[in-house]
Amino acid sequence: MGSNAVEFDGVSRTFGADTAAVRALDIIDLDIAPGEFVALVGPSGCGKSTLLRMVAALDHPDHGAVTVAGREAGAKAASIGLAFQNPTMLPWLTVEANVMLPLKIVPPYRQHFRQEKRQAFRDRVHALLERVGLKDFALKYPWQLSGGMLQRASLCRALIHDPQILLLDEPFGALDQFTREGLWRSLQDIWIERRPTVLLVTHDLREAAFLSSRIIVMSPRPGRIVDDIVVPLVRPRTIAGTYEPEAVALCQRMRMLIDVTEAGTS
Ligand code: ADP
Repeated sequence: MGSNAVEFDGVSRTFGADTAAVRALDIIDLDIAPGEFVALVGPSGCGKSTLLRMVAALDHPDHGAVTVAGREAGAKAASIGLAFQNPTMLPWLTVEANVMLPLKIVPPYRQHFRQEKRQAFRDRVHALLERVGLKDFALKYPWQLSGGMLQRASLCRALIHDPQILLLDEPFGALDQFTREGLWRSLQDIWIERRPTVLLVTHDLREAAFLSSRIIVMSPRPGRIVDDIVVPLVRPRTIAGTYEPEAVALCQRMRMLIDVTEAGTS
């Protein structure tokens, strides 16, 4: 206890009551070490997003406990960055101001958010925007950006305060394949450099194979962990590498497990 970035201890969660009750999670035990990149995969409805939301204390277990950096989730403002499938940017702020927002809110940055640090913060935003290919769009408004650009900006906003834990729920789900793969590369680079603990919910098995150091496969109704895979692929990984036999075998292993769990519930 205490040395893990995130712990789920006997976590269960049921939504609704009586005949309408949905057992979303059933006794989940999972320890995640600092700096791990963990993907949660499985069919829709197996409780992946609920697990993620619990880390941010946006949802709570009925039984069991969720611990973040040694404390009950939500007990202390943990250093967390969030990005979801549909990026919500404030339309009246520029991309730069949107990405800077966490620095205004999250300690210890907010104490320094005065004129003298403003330029340093702006430089920090610009450096991150440059990393994801948005250097020239800092002063544009969200509506002037494509979906892929918005998602890049959303990733920057999740990372700007250098969070210890990064929670990503299908962040690339709405993007075309090439844009998505470009973002995998950016995210891998940033993870290698900063080593945050990452929890990524995804339906894209190649994405899980490319990005993660560990993959948790889940089954639905009730949501359970059916496999816990250490990804054997060396880094830095390449898109071409996801078509090599080792990566293909990994995707097949996940796919077969998901087929089995889906067959069991239909
Ligand atoms: P996943 O992310 O794997 O698709 P979720 O965690 O979103 O799964 O949901 C797991 C199950 O719990 C689903 O059956 C979903 O309908 C249900 N569920 C999730 N959140 C709520 C909620 N706030 N109210 C009622 N049911 C919910």
